[in-house]
Amino acid sequence: GRKPFISGNWKLNPQTKEEALTLASGIASSINENSPDVDVALFVPYVFIETAISAVGGKLAVGAEGVCPHNSGAFTGGISTSMVKSIGVNWVLAGHSERREIFGETNDYINAQCLKIIDDGMSVMLCIGESLDEFELDLAGSVCEVQLKKGLMGIRKEELDRVAIAYEPIWAIGTGKVATPEIAQSVHAKCRAILADMYDQEAADEVRILYGGSVTPESVDDLMNQPDIDGALVGGASLDKDKFGRIINFKT
Ligand code: 13P
Repeated sequence: GRKPFISGNWKLNPQTKEEALTLASGIASSINENSPDVDVALFVPYVFIETAISAVGGKLAVGAEGVCPHNSGAFTGGISTSMVKSIGVNWVLAGHSERREIFGETNDYINAQCLKIIDDGMSVMLCIGESLDEFELDLAGSVCEVQLKKGLMGIRKEELDRVAIAYEPIWAIGTGKVATPEIAQSVHAKCRAILADMYDQEAADEVRILYGGSVTPESVDDLMNQPDIDGALVGGASLDKDKFGRIINFKT
């Protein structure tokens, strides 16, 4: 059985340390004895990681929104795996469509990040997903296949327990146009079949595949009821403690 995994991606928010502290502690307080048995992680800007860790009191994981794939040296602005690991980070995002599109990160660069995160003993959430054009051309499965195979190249089967996949169709991110549970389920099933092809069925059955793109309290329950949707990666709604609290406490 795959344990559900609800995660938030704060992106370039909030703007002050005080707001980060209030939001993180508010989210943590929504986890109680009636909550589902779920892993919760918040991916936050580097400068707020330690603040968020101290605010959540061990009730959830605080992750980094990315890392530089290099060890050390002349990479101005970079943040290494060792740096985030040394302040208590386990989970790191890679391959978000905003990194691919706005920051020009390629599948090769994303693969180097994934390998570095795994080699350093941490866990990676690899984000994949097609554009609207690709979706309309019925290329969602093909795009996910390329991004999965290239992103995970060199990662061994026995390391997959430290890998999660987030399927985030770009047309659903920040648009309010959540994928229907049926569309998301069909791409998730396809992604699992690709993982079975890359590794084997047993390995594919253990990997958690999260859905991301305009997830809200209104849409989470139906998504989480799909057999291959194991969690959510939430942007906008993770900036609201009540909304994200309700998403963590999803009902199936
Ligand atoms: P929204 O939930 O704001 O659509 O963002 C999704 C996302 O990109 C999470 O990584």
